Amino acid sequence: ADGDHVAALVIGSGYGGAVTALRLTQAGISTAMVEMGMAWTSPGTDGKIFCDVLNPDQRSYWLRTTTDQPVGYFLGVSANKSIPKYTGVLDSEKFAGIRVYQGRGVGGGSLVNGGMAVVPRRDYFTEILPAVDAAAMYATYFPRATAALGVNAIDTAWFATADCYRYARVSRDQATASGYATRFLDNVYDFGYMKQEQAGTVTRSALASEVIYGNNHGKRSLDKTYLAAAAATGRLSITAQHVVTAVAPHSAGGYAVTMNQIDTVGARVATKTVRADRVFFAAGSVGTSKLLVAMRAQGKLPNLPAAVGQGWGNNGNVMVARAQHLWNTTGALESGMPAVGIDNWADPAGPVFAEIAPFPAGTELWISLYLAITKNPNRARFAYNAATGQVELSWQTAQNQPAIDAAKRVFDTINKAQATVYRSDLFGANKVWGDDFTYHPLGGCVLGQATDDYGRLPGYPGLYVMDGSLIPGSTGVNPFVTITALAERNIEKIIAVDVG
Ligand code: FAD
Repeated sequence: ADGDHVAALVIGSGYGGAVTALRLTQAGISTAMVEMGMAWTSPGTDGKIFCDVLNPDQRSYWLRTTTDQPVGYFLGVSANKSIPKYTGVLDSEKFAGIRVYQGRGVGGGSLVNGGMAVVPRRDYFTEILPAVDAAAMYATYFPRATAALGVNAIDTAWFATADCYRYARVSRDQATASGYATRFLDNVYDFGYMKQEQAGTVTRSALASEVIYGNNHGKRSLDKTYLAAAAATGRLSITAQHVVTAVAPHSAGGYAVTMNQIDTVGARVATKTVRADRVFFAAGSVGTSKLLVAMRAQGKLPNLPAAVGQGWGNNGNVMVARAQHLWNTTGALESGMPAVGIDNWADPAGPVFAEIAPFPAGTELWISLYLAITKNPNRARFAYNAATGQVELSWQTAQNQPAIDAAKRVFDTINKAQATVYRSDLFGANKVWGDDFTYHPLGGCVLGQATDDYGRLPGYPGLYVMDGSLIPGSTGVNPFVTITALAERNIEKIIAVDVG
């Protein structure tokens, strides 16, 4: 409530925030968490909390009046539709050269993501974060993160014949036949539940085209793992539908945190200011970077280093699809949770790690879709525009060309070997590459540059960065395990040294 004084305030409830909340509350510290999105706990009139990708309604998008599907076209025609404006679960945040998809709600990105829980290659982790002790990460913090996230492995014997993974087997076999290595990917979706979905004994979720607008069953999102465990300590309060707008030193010590309470159309209901001894920024790469860049420019945190707002990347994301021959069916039933990746990261001429992505349309489409992660070296920065009061991101669409080039080498080779072609109708009319959006925003407050080696913001004791903004633009695989493990490492140190 307005005027409260709290020991610790966490901004955002995604991976970085959830780790912070669990470890602080376990250490006996009362923790207040503020989240701009909704607490997704009440079903709609259809009895479901979330809608599926085939029937998007107001629950799908954050304050939009039309959907903005990542694969937004079919046969070159827009596949988007009108929806009522609402604080829905998936935000497509538009900057000049890129749309950045992010989860909105208690649980952050865990509500909308594909659940793939991939530990980065150790040699690459060392390359991107050389100041972090990799031995400790791989012995302690990655295992701690995957255990707490509820990561499980797919039963590969079941996978071999399951209808819902026919699409993945077709792509995998063609990759193998074209000379590429593939591997199974762990997930936080309960594969035991998915088996029952396939068998028809439970309500379908991953097998009912539920994924990017949320899953009603089966997924171990953060509200069911880290945040549930933090709440069980009795020391966590979560306040949803509150957008933090300012953080500045408080005259009585600690920090004044200002926030707007919003309703379900995004209108301000109230403005509140609380005093916090410590503030943990966990609003995601974009959210944290925007807030800190604005605070520096507005003179509220004027001494933040120049590196705040820099080093942003899209994890080299680019999407692409291939058209299959008519005899190579991909299946009408596709699990929304990817389970296999093409791993060509070791290729020095163009590292690519490509998830075999679902296209859960509920009908046979002969489409093989991929989300490629590449080693795109380009980076961008956030800057405050005083005229508009907005924080802008400098990324230009053309900066994604290295990602296209790397992915093209792999998929040209597969197409040649399989005598197949690209689909050029899914990302626009005559557009092969989905190069103007990302699921993996990373960086903006890079560890060891914008912060010290544990996420502390220099010059402002008690301010910490805990989320994907710490990672310098790339991690070579889907990022949430890296974000979670790094947060585990940093909060352990912060509790031991600063809080204890
Ligand atoms: P987030 O999870 O984004 O959490 C930040 C939270 O802060 C959000 O809930 C946001 O609403 C809130 N917030 C922001 N600003 C404010 C503010 N001013 N005030 C209050 N609250 C605020 N990664 C994988 O590893 N595997 C996958 O399979 C995968 N699939 C994905 C699929 C999709 C469609 C998307 C969009 C992402 C996917 N990702 C995946 C990426 C992954 O979800 C993100 O990397 C991860 O969620 C980032 O964690 P974070 O803690 O940095 O921030």
